[in-house]
Amino acid sequence: MPIVRVALDVPLSTLFDYTVAEGIAVSVGQRVIVPFGRRQMAGVVMECAATTDVPPERIKPVTQVLLDSAPLSAGLLDLLRFCSDYYRYPIGQTVLSALPTRLRSDKPVISKPILSYRLSAGGAALDLESFPKRKVVQRRILAKLAEQPCNLAQLRALSATVGAQLKTLVQEGWVESVALAPTLSPSPSPASGRGEPIANHTFDNAHILTVEQQLAVDAVTQSSGYACFLLHGITGSGKTEVYVHLMHDVLQRGGQVLLLVPEINLTPQLENYFRIRFPDVNLISLHSGLSEGERLHNWQQAQLGAAQIVLGTRLSVFAELPGLALIIVDEEHDSSFKQQDGLRYSARDVAIFRANQHSVPVVLGSATPSLESYHNALSGRYRMLKLTGRALAEARLPAVRCININQTVMHHGISENLLREIGLRIERREQSLLFINRRGYAPVLMCTSCGWLSGCKHCAGKMVLHLKEQRLRCHHCGYQIRVPNACPSCGNADLHPVGSGTQRVESVLQERFPQARILRVDRDSTRNKRAWQTMREQIHANEVDILVGTQMLAKGHDFPALTLVGVLNPDSALYSSDFRAPEKLFAQLVQVAGRAGRAEKPGEVIIQTEFPDHPLFRALQTHDFEGWAASQLAERQMAGFPPFMFQAMLRAEGKIETEVYAYLNHARAAAMELQHPVEVLGVVPAALPRRANHLRAQLLVQATSRKALQQFLRAWQPMLDALPAAKLRCSLDIDPLEF
Ligand code: ADP
Ligand code: ZN
Ligand code: ZN
Repeated sequence: MPIVRVALDVPLSTLFDYTVAEGIAVSVGQRVIVPFGRRQMAGVVMECAATTDVPPERIKPVTQVLLDSAPLSAGLLDLLRFCSDYYRYPIGQTVLSALPTRLRSDKPVISKPILSYRLSAGGAALDLESFPKRKVVQRRILAKLAEQPCNLAQLRALSATVGAQLKTLVQEGWVESVALAPTLSPSPSPASGRGEPIANHTFDNAHILTVEQQLAVDAVTQSSGYACFLLHGITGSGKTEVYVHLMHDVLQRGGQVLLLVPEINLTPQLENYFRIRFPDVNLISLHSGLSEGERLHNWQQAQLGAAQIVLGTRLSVFAELPGLALIIVDEEHDSSFKQQDGLRYSARDVAIFRANQHSVPVVLGSATPSLESYHNALSGRYRMLKLTGRALAEARLPAVRCININQTVMHHGISENLLREIGLRIERREQSLLFINRRGYAPVLMCTSCGWLSGCKHCAGKMVLHLKEQRLRCHHCGYQIRVPNACPSCGNADLHPVGSGTQRVESVLQERFPQARILRVDRDSTRNKRAWQTMREQIHANEVDILVGTQMLAKGHDFPALTLVGVLNPDSALYSSDFRAPEKLFAQLVQVAGRAGRAEKPGEVIIQTEFPDHPLFRALQTHDFEGWAASQLAERQMAGFPPFMFQAMLRAEGKIETEVYAYLNHARAAAMELQHPVEVLGVVPAALPRRANHLRAQLLVQATSRKALQQFLRAWQPMLDALPAAKLRCSLDIDPLEF
């Protein structure tokens, strides 16, 4: 009887063999349901075989073959095998975690028909001018549907409230819905995966490219097969425009483009942008903010080759793309491309592997490339493409100025000079942004009498004061209590907030500028799903004078009225124990500075620091990424850090300290025993040595080549698997970003 080897979502690094009953056709890549222990589980057929090592009396038959979706391609399975091997993560969990939730379940997927909306006869006859002006969103929907029928996903970009407004329009009879047949299992033969060339798709060719942009576009379109490009362009240099032209080229040839972006809150805006540029192209997005149904639908659109542009966050690097012709990774330095649990993959690195596997080009874009990528471009492994000027001639880079906080008057963390500049902006009806990477009111509460600090009783960290809610909250474990009336240690009633977070900055500003419209943007104020989008609309409508926010505000948003950026407390990153902290700070400050003066108004950036002469700030002032990167790379080389070293981190945490350390010490002994050319550093406590009552420690292994590290890990892992660790949470992180 034929045998199939099945990947299952269990933490074991093997496939599982099953028989297939006569007359049932099963192929590689198909989803099946199989008995596992006393359960039935969904899995994916990875191999078909004639023989098995499982004794005949123990092997069981496949319960059901799921024919509701096309089988996964051999190429995708290869990619997942590579990831499982490279990231030392069980094959079954790797394969299953790459699929949309619905395809992971043991139930057949019932694709609900996707509704398409169009104008009713009444709606078509309607004169939009006579429609009430204040119903802004409804007017936008009607205008859009007058151009073409759309589904909900396509309308989303119009407003946060599109769903409710659409419902009203349907109820009032202006719009009607039609069900499109769900796209089910017509398994695409490899050849038909390639979409129809859309040679004359509408292309809003809005700009004449600058010389540098054209050179970049040509370099990529004229390359053949695999090549990795680093598009290093300052903020506002028109990287997006380069992407658009590259996409246009691919679409004309009938290929699919995968565009990876760092974070979910960037996607609605970007999605809208590309839809406008390519109005008759099927563009879908893939990110964790979609409903399970939407995600499945979009995934299948990509799998069938029906979606020509796939715009997604890191998980979309595993989307099926039969016609893949180009991968773009925007903001390639962003750490959110790295998954921090489960399969700890870097979507950027997987994208490069995938491009190589498919023999297509991959473009990494950034104003502040990661030192890894930059080093690879300098050494010729990647091809460097540079955009050194801003695309709009009149848009200048912002002037950057440091204010020494020890030599000026400070008001609860904000200097008088900065407050004066904000006042000027309010008079000129321009916007200011204050950047502070800490939410809450103050990072800690202190007793002025005995020095008690608001520590978390479950963690090694401090509880953050949230004054509005009158709570102390631990941002590590979520534990919270009411703010005590008196010091729990000595009874003194005089408790003081130390340092500031976004809430405190907001209240200082409210006091100073009572008339100003202040908007705080952090994880607390944007918890509600649509809140951030609504805020963005307010900012664009110039209904905000001062923005106070965390790094959420730093990324890729285009706020035309913004002319002043204040950076409040960047200093801790200068002397952090994390060797990547300065790199991250530099990137963040360039990003946040790039928000200022993007339109015709020149921007200004004010940095409050104790160290105005620090080389990092000097480099920012002169917009000298090259010089800064060169000095950082030289330091990294001397200290023996990435990109000159390749690292893997073994982490362990558990309730009992001795067990945690025993595990890691055994792991260390095993590593030494192997006598591979690797360096083993530690065991040391984690940066946060206790979290939610778990003690945490780690062990770092590094080697001078990726290959040496991989060989070592392959030998080491079986030894780790054999160590007793029942009560511990252990993980191996390859190319770790967090220390
Ligand atoms: P980046 O992504 O590099 O920060 P963008 O692609 O957002 O830059 O471009 C910045 C601005 O310049 C945008 O408003 C864009 O429309 C405009 N732009 C880009 N390329 C050109 C060009 N060749 N000519 C005129 N304007 C351009
Ligand atoms: Zn006290
Ligand atoms: Zn805690």
